[in-house]
Amino acid sequence: MYYGSIEAGGTKFVCAVGNDQGDIQEAIQIKTEAPEVTMPKVINFFKQYSLKAMGIGSFGPVDIDKGSRTYGNITSTPKLAWRDYPLVQTIQEAFPIPIEFNTDVNAAALGEATLGAAKGLDSCLYITVGTGVGAGAVVHGELLSGLSHPEMGHILIPRHPKDTYEGKCPYHKGCLEGLAAGPAIEARWGQKGVALSDRKDVWELEAFYIAEALMQYILILSPRKIILGGGVMKQKQLFPLIQDKVKALLNGYLALPEVTEAIESYIVPPGLGDHAGITGGLILAKQAERASEKANI
Ligand code: ADP
Ligand code: ZN
Repeated sequence: MYYGSIEAGGTKFVCAVGNDQGDIQEAIQIKTEAPEVTMPKVINFFKQYSLKAMGIGSFGPVDIDKGSRTYGNITSTPKLAWRDYPLVQTIQEAFPIPIEFNTDVNAAALGEATLGAAKGLDSCLYITVGTGVGAGAVVHGELLSGLSHPEMGHILIPRHPKDTYEGKCPYHKGCLEGLAAGPAIEARWGQKGVALSDRKDVWELEAFYIAEALMQYILILSPRKIILGGGVMKQKQLFPLIQDKVKALLNGYLALPEVTEAIESYIVPPGLGDHAGITGGLILAKQAERASEKANI
């Protein structure tokens, strides 16, 4: 029997079955269209298997409060067809097995903390810089949550004095996501990031914004490892730029060797590559199974 994992994204759903060691037996990608089109395909894939439990990491915002009437829903997403969509309920009706649900970045953070770049550490921060900016934090081995899941992509950061682009976030314009996500890069420079690889100024500015955000996350959360993923971070030249800028911003204040001597092993790409989220889903499934066993004792 396998665990099921869903990484529900704005452009595609990745569905996989595997075990809690991150070994994936089979995975497929399904285009994200309207729920009526996408969800039957998702359910059909998993129907081929006999599953022990399922883990779902979803684009959001999502309702992860188990006591809430709308638990498991995608909430105020700009993707209108999915607004208020009962994702967990739909899966639960098709599969009467334990299900654990969280954001896509939280699932990725859990995957990286359990089997990836932060394996063996009790805390880490996973940040994706892609269509949006999102982050998940593992603290004391558990995903950090409170009123809801953190929304670290929307923090306000000082603007670069030479940057005149107003920002793309519909809520805050020039928040981190509004200034540094893939669509902001495209709007500011008139081309997609992938076509701007050799433009030094583009990546200097991008690293400036990401480093400012990391400085704040480091000071507030003190993670043992920072993992940067998502489409924009495929520009590998960003890593040394970000590492140098974080070091400069901290300016020796944190006298910790992780930052002062070995920052290249502190701010790193995902150890699981593009599988962080889907692997995290398998770990969520395992957690769901454990919780249900406990509840039945
Ligand atoms: P999503 O965030 O939708 O899950 P991605 O993480 O792939 O998907 O992010 C997509 C965004 O990242 C787009 O804005 C795209 O332009 C940008 N992007 C994707 N690949 C690259 C690349 N190699 N270099 C720079 N930007 C990229
Ligand atoms: Zn915002």
